[in-house]
Amino acid sequence: MKEPSNQKRIALLGSTGSIGVQALDVIRQNKDKFKVEVLTAYSNDELLLEQALEFKPNAVVIVDEEKYEYLSERLWKEGIKTYTGEESLSQVVQMEEVEMVLTALVGYAGLKPTIAAIEAKKAIALANKETLVVAGELITDLANKNQVPILPVDSEHSAIFQCLLGEFHNKIEKIYLTASGGPFRGWSAEKLATVTKEQALKHPNWEMGAKITIDSATLMNKGLEVIEAKWLFDLKANQIDTIVHPQSIIHSIVQFEDGSMKAQMGLPDMKLPIQFAMTYPDRIPANFPRFNFLDYPQLTFEKADRSTFKNLDLAYEALEKGGTVACALNAANEITNAAFLQEKIGFLQIAEINEKVMSKSSFIQKPTLEDYVNCNQEARILAESLCK
Ligand code: NAD
Ligand code: MG
Repeated sequence: MKEPSNQKRIALLGSTGSIGVQALDVIRQNKDKFKVEVLTAYSNDELLLEQALEFKPNAVVIVDEEKYEYLSERLWKEGIKTYTGEESLSQVVQMEEVEMVLTALVGYAGLKPTIAAIEAKKAIALANKETLVVAGELITDLANKNQVPILPVDSEHSAIFQCLLGEFHNKIEKIYLTASGGPFRGWSAEKLATVTKEQALKHPNWEMGAKITIDSATLMNKGLEVIEAKWLFDLKANQIDTIVHPQSIIHSIVQFEDGSMKAQMGLPDMKLPIQFAMTYPDRIPANFPRFNFLDYPQLTFEKADRSTFKNLDLAYEALEKGGTVACALNAANEITNAAFLQEKIGFLQIAEINEKVMSKSSFIQKPTLEDYVNCNQEARILAESLCK
């Protein structure tokens, strides 16, 4: 029997990650509104199997080929197609049954599947900010050409988007992306030189995947978000400001030409922006914990320390220079972030190596997809060599 047509049919890339699991929580609470068509993971076959048995998608992808046999043996009995390999991601998002693709996979790996989804005219709910950092111009041009919406999942960008509802015809003077400041807010470079991965993995307000948690500690995450905001909202670098707000209650702010500022607020819970991207333009009831003013008698704000946490400045520099620079910065950061987690380099070296790679990488002003692919490759190799 065919599913009722009022269910939105979702492909969830990266279903075993932090965002993926929370997206499935939202779907579980709203089974009448959503149907999972595709689930994908890199190598967590156990969790993917459990999710597939619960949500009965049309297809699953396990990128790691070694895990394919185990999964396909168990899923074919259920009538669920199983695929493996990176290329499969770009194929499953194009399936006729899919209406919306939620990109909750991490890193550069999101680029090609997102392009494939846009080409097949699927709406994008974008958590994978790296895609816009690497190739924002190409992605937004392609989305405009195909009239495909890119709906932000990142909490700051969802906040900006929510503030803009009913205001899209009005000019933005500037936006403020709020930042928690991470676990090392206020720390000196001397102190930062000795931090361990365990310390860096303890984010004060959000529970997230390892990569973004380290990016939050180095302020690279805020830098990536500055670039993401440029492409999502068509802004110039000088229209994007950041402000440290340690309580993470105000998720971001838009300032209009008349000086009026709108902010979106609530307790830090990614399920809200995930759900809004999936139900836009509607809001649906949810029992997410409500913010209580008296629990937070003070909301505070401070300047980001951009001279100690250099990654944020690197992102602004990449934005100013354009072309392939942000792609090189992203590639370097994926390598240095992982190298820090493997305890091959120290905390401060992350930004140092990112900076070196960014300045040494070949530069192309108007890159094609192939140029981005090459730039990513070159920057990774360079970063790897500097991490040794
Ligand atoms: P995570 O590490 O918890 O999960 C990543 C998911 O992607 C997993 O399902 C994993 O199997 C899959 N994956 C990893 N490498 C892959 C590859 N090479 N190819 C295909 N799939 C791969 O990450 P996360 O914290 O859920 O973050 C996902 C994305 O959402 C990131 O781009 C992150 O910046 C963004 N984001 C996350 C949060 C958050 O709260 N976690 C908030 C805002 C934005
Ligand atoms: Mg964010």
